[in-house]
Amino acid sequence: VTRRARCCCGRLAISVAGEPVLNALCHCDDCRRRTGSAFGWSAYFRDDQVVGVEGAAFEYAVPVATPQVRRFCGDCGSTLFWSTGNFPGHTGVAGGAFLDPPLSEPTAAYRAAKRCAWLTLPAAWPQHP
Ligand SMILES: [Zn+2]
Ligand SMILES: [Zn+2]
Repeated sequence: VTRRARCCCGRLAISVAGEPVLNALCHCDDCRRRTGSAFGWSAYFRDDQVVGVEGAAFEYAVPVATPQVRRFCGDCGSTLFWSTGNFPGHTGVAGGAFLDPPLSEPTAAYRAAKRCAWLTLPAAWPQHP
């Protein structure tokens, strides 16, 4: 299956083939601020699974020790995909930006200690520190 994720306004999109190598939530402060939500939902694909990018992505180099570059729409501001030195050779895509068809169910959550107290996740998902 090939899936396409796009920003809110539709000017930036990324298409990926097959299932993600990692499909997980992250509760860290940065993911919460980046998304404005209770967690980030990230799907990592091998770079060779990226079928195409439509539109021009703006880049934000996150000032952290491990290089991390976020790519976002310069018109609507949605962060759509990124790369991180923690997972070289892979592209992370915002999981919620896949709508038709949607992304498969996440399989794990990270930074569990930062999880919002009111949030309950499926028991089958491993909770990583
Ligand atoms: Zn946009
Ligand atoms: Zn995070």
